[in-house]
Amino acid sequence: NAGAVTIDMLDPLSRKSFPPCMQQLHQSLRQNHHLRYGGRLQYGLFLKGIGLLLEDALRFWGAELSQSVGIDKFQKAYAYNIRYNYGKEGKRANFTPYSCAKIILSNHPANGDYHGCVFRHTDPALLRQKFQGQGMAAENVAKIVNYVTEGHYQLACMKHFEITQGVKECSFGLQHPNQYFEESQKILN
Ligand code: SF4
Repeated sequence: NAGAVTIDMLDPLSRKSFPPCMQQLHQSLRQNHHLRYGGRLQYGLFLKGIGLLLEDALRFWGAELSQSVGIDKFQKAYAYNIRYNYGKEGKRANFTPYSCAKIILSNHPANGDYHGCVFRHTDPALLRQKFQGQGMAAENVAKIVNYVTEGHYQLACMKHFEITQGVKECSFGLQHPNQYFEESQKILN
């Protein structure tokens, strides 16, 4: 679906179809006009995976990041990394978006980071607050938090998918944030 997604679609798509990890990155980028390296990498590759083309990625990140670091610094220090992620610089490798396993197991987020897996890297009490704050029924919040405390982060995320997308039971095993997005789009379209 390369090229299917444009910048103006990102806000509504993030609310409807992004997995929680990417919702979190999108929201904090929109709010703070900044993400640290780990977040830019995780979110940038996800956006590439859903079909945001390089030109749009440069415009999207440029519009956000230049509000915090200025357009000069964006051009000098950040635009290269975006082109690099799309295989247009350096080794010209074709980088693929990160899987859940990679996000869960590597590059643990520090204070002030927004990357990582929401289920693995959020304190369960905060997670409860977060989903309750989004209006999720207490019994559903409890199901999710239960999986989390048992260390079943992807099952927690599948439960989140079932609840928020209104399906009885996931017909897939969740391995990848881009899979979450694609499965949601299948339901909505
Ligand atoms: Fe993202 Fe995967 Fe964690 Fe869900 S389980 S929040 S898709 S990393």
